Amino acid sequence: MRVQMPLADTEASHDCPLCPRLAALREELRAAHPEWWNAPVPAWGDPQAWLAIVGLAPGMKGANRTGRPFTGDDAGKFLFATLAQVKLSRGHYDERPDDGLKLNGAIILNAVKCVPPRNKPSGQEVATCRRFLAAQLADLPKLRAVIALGRIAHDSVLRVHGLPLASHRFVHGAEHALPGGTPLIDSYHCSRQNTRTGRLTAEMFQEVFARAKAFRS
Ligand code: SF4
Repeated sequence: MRVQMPLADTEASHDCPLCPRLAALREELRAAHPEWWNAPVPAWGDPQAWLAIVGLAPGMKGANRTGRPFTGDDAGKFLFATLAQVKLSRGHYDERPDDGLKLNGAIILNAVKCVPPRNKPSGQEVATCRRFLAAQLADLPKLRAVIALGRIAHDSVLRVHGLPLASHRFVHGAEHALPGGTPLIDSYHCSRQNTRTGRLTAEMFQEVFARAKAFRS
């Protein structure tokens, strides 16, 4: 399976053993679905990105299957439709890593690179995988804004920068200053649960990206 790695120097190894529970699930999935990606999912997008979008973790049948963040599940349909709408992508999203889609000035990272059971990584797993998130955020020379999709991504970005969570609470649409002045903008995660219930609408999501674009220089 062809998967691009724009930040290859800061990626986890294909068989990263650091989270035993996630590594064990990976082995089960490799046996059950040998055609799936079943490995840490690399960052994907523009290595010269001004905007980093930080998700939670790969979806079982989305990124864990295809190897590209958000690709192949309902959350990805919502995210990529929005990125097209706000002109942060070019090409047609067709739910596979070789569909030719490109991101313009944006890159997608995850708080946790391996699929967790029931989409719920443990606190320890988030903490363990933070070394990759930190390295990848530091590897973006043109970064001007970060969007966190959900509280776990929000908390992990704050911890990357040593900021106290108590004074930077996750609230959809809130903006927090990271060291150096880079804004961290919160959004509800574009999960099917949130979009189907109307907790996150297309308009709300587009507004988050519109606010981030104000920081592009
Ligand atoms: S979640 Fe991150 S740290 Fe844990 S095994 Fe996967 S790549 Fe390694």
